[in-house]
Amino acid sequence: MFLPEFEYFAPETLEEALGLLERYGEKAKILAGGTDLLVMMKDKLLKPEVLIDISKLIELQGIQYVPEQGLTLGAATKIDEVQHSLSIQKNWRALAQAAGELGSAQVRSMATLGGNSCHASPAAETPPALVALGAKVSLACPGGEREILLENFILGNRKTALQGGEILTRFFLPEPSPRSASVYLYHALRGAMEIDMLNVAVYLALAPDLRSCQEVRIALGAVSPVPLRAEKSEVILTGSKMENSVIEAAGRLASAQASPISDLRATAQHRREVVEVLVRRALTQAYEVARAGKEVKG
Ligand SMILES: Cc1cc2nc3c(=O)[nH]c(=O)nc-3n(C[C@H](O)[C@H](O)[C@H](O)COP(=O)(O)OP(=O)(O)OC[C@H]3O[C@@H](n4cnc5c(N)ncnc54)[C@H](O)[C@@H]3O)c2cc1C
Repeated sequence: MFLPEFEYFAPETLEEALGLLERYGEKAKILAGGTDLLVMMKDKLLKPEVLIDISKLIELQGIQYVPEQGLTLGAATKIDEVQHSLSIQKNWRALAQAAGELGSAQVRSMATLGGNSCHASPAAETPPALVALGAKVSLACPGGEREILLENFILGNRKTALQGGEILTRFFLPEPSPRSASVYLYHALRGAMEIDMLNVAVYLALAPDLRSCQEVRIALGAVSPVPLRAEKSEVILTGSKMENSVIEAAGRLASAQASPISDLRATAQHRREVVEVLVRRALTQAYEVARAGKEVKG
């Protein structure tokens, strides 16, 4: 299979890239790692006339941690850099876990964090982890920049809040509580190099008694067109003791809130059952890690 013809630009500054996007409008597509875009072009699902490669833009690279504020990740940061970042493994573990499950080592060395959210596949690996961790995204256009929550950025299957002329530049993750932990779990048929049947990410912060939940965010992937916040589960957990009965109820509520489809990977009913199990497991693991203080900053 061959790629259709296109004009290729590799701008060296964000300003230049935004200028090209403004000039070519709908004829142009941003090219990051190309692991989704080039596949779609080969499959003739997309036929952009112009590709604007953002891999040379320093402004979109790298991971920067500012203590007591949080973490900034450039949108063109490679998934394997996210997976292996010690700071992310320590303080935003669900994201490192999700990154480590994306595709193969070869795919992770090409694919970017921004591309994974901009492609907006309901089964994507990193968006649920980012949503559970409270991520915001910055979107730049020639006139300036705006910031929104990632959960308001992904609007549906392959649909985002990106407006014509905008580029996703950065993710921002707030500093987690010192009594917190985050966990990412997924379920799939083979366990490697395949699309998830579903995935779950949890961020749990304990109250000073180390027994009650002070704050929790649960995001479910592949059970709705967008990463779904299990809000009813979050409500019953917040302020409650992390007892088995509460964790089990949270799992049941998440399952009831999910709206999965049946497809070649699983029936909707099976997905609902697995959501309940994974939410329970993720909450239990997050509780154990947060209590053990494994994520307390040194
Ligand atoms: C073999 C294989 C296995 C895979 N396995 C998985 C998996 O297990 N889990 C998973 O989630 N995904 C998987 N993927 C999908 C893909 O690797 C990811 O979605 C990846 O993160 C996409 O990033 P990219 O940099 O390659 O994006 P690209 O393909 O370059 O771009 C994807 C889309 O986002 C747009 N875009 C990219 N960056 C920006 C930006 N900064 N601003 C505005 N628009 C932008 C592009 O225009 C395009 O529409 C797999 C892909 C392959 C080929």
